Amino acid sequence: MTILVTGGAGYIGSHTVLSLLELNKDVVVLDNLSNSSEESLRRVKQLTGKEVIFYEGDIQDDTCLKHIFDCHKISSVIHFAGLKAVGESTHNPLEYYKNNVSGTLTLLDEMRRANVHQLIFSSSATVYGANSPVPYVETTPIGSTTSPYGTSKMFIEHILQDFAKAEPQFSTIALRYFNPVGAHESGLIGEDPNGIPNNLLPYIAQVAIGKLEKLGVFGGDYPTRDGTGVRDYIHVMDLAEGHCIAMDKLRILRGFRAYNLGSGVGYSVLEMIQAFEKASGVTIPYQILPRRDGDLPAFWADAGLAKMELGWEVSRGINTMMRDTWNWQNKNPKGYHHHHDR
Ligand code: NAD
Ligand code: UDP
Repeated sequence: MTILVTGGAGYIGSHTVLSLLELNKDVVVLDNLSNSSEESLRRVKQLTGKEVIFYEGDIQDDTCLKHIFDCHKISSVIHFAGLKAVGESTHNPLEYYKNNVSGTLTLLDEMRRANVHQLIFSSSATVYGANSPVPYVETTPIGSTTSPYGTSKMFIEHILQDFAKAEPQFSTIALRYFNPVGAHESGLIGEDPNGIPNNLLPYIAQVAIGKLEKLGVFGGDYPTRDGTGVRDYIHVMDLAEGHCIAMDKLRILRGFRAYNLGSGVGYSVLEMIQAFEKASGVTIPYQILPRRDGDLPAFWADAGLAKMELGWEVSRGINTMMRDTWNWQNKNPKGYHHHHDR
């Protein structure tokens, strides 16, 4: 039985495909390459010695989905495909709702038509919004999101819940990722942002290789231990393994279930800079700037439910995250080298 991975050429998708292949699963990837390159999948093949079937196409294209479900014995879908830039989503909300919400509706429709009833969805800690107490726990209702991106994830979770009630044979897991960082330890696959990175670690890594001059720290006056924002960072390989473990749960679950995938520990921006400097031996110049719109002061996961029900917890700490980020950045100063603007 084959697993369809939408968005499988992307950052988290490619690492998850690697983990699945290492478990001898058969994988088909559907990706429109809007934010990725097929090179990631070639490298996954190089690392595993295994073949991935790749379709370049859009999750909004029902004909393309039909074709895939007709040609392969798909047993389950891991759904990463979507747009993820928070800032961009405030400027172009319709694109975000189309790709993320509409795209997921099309996927669900075609899954139902093809009698494929198992789904893992990439959700985000951002669905907890501005008013949830920390640490975030799955029993807290989602809402008060601070960007169209976050709202698109929240809408999709509501849709998945309604759908699961109406279609009792479906099993659906929403995995709420905290802040994924790092890369596979080989340094062959990793995060390859288009243009100037929005996220902290890719930005730090590009300062370290001299591509960017200095890091702007967004806010030095938050009510945190050093005034900078606190987040729960999770190594992308821990995240990838979380998906593999959730696949086992899908087989016995009926209905909808959401799990936090985080470490349970928060680090401030300044702590992240220090940890990176220690791992790389490179000094990161930075400057405190005003807060970034839509950012929350501090949040991290209550990681207890995933541990209890999935038997999953993180095994890679902050030093491994920094080592692997630096290794990937050093070996691939131009990323996968696919962007036209480079
Ligand atoms: P990514 O951009 O590297 O991967 C997403 C992939 O989906 C890309 O390869 C892109 O080309 C593809 N894609 C986008 N729209 C598509 C469409 N309409 N049809 C087909 N393919 C499409 O991002 P990522 O960091 O790997 O994130 C994967 C998923 O996890 C996303 O849904 C994202 O919202 C979610 N997520 C990411 C983070 C994070 O910080 N990276 C945190 C929480 C949740
Ligand atoms: N951040 C920063 N400078 C940057 C990018 C991010 O100070 O160039 C901070 C941001 O304010 C937040 C943390 O780093 O406190 C993580 O931000 P990121 O964008 O990586 O993830 P988010 O939690 O916003 O999804």
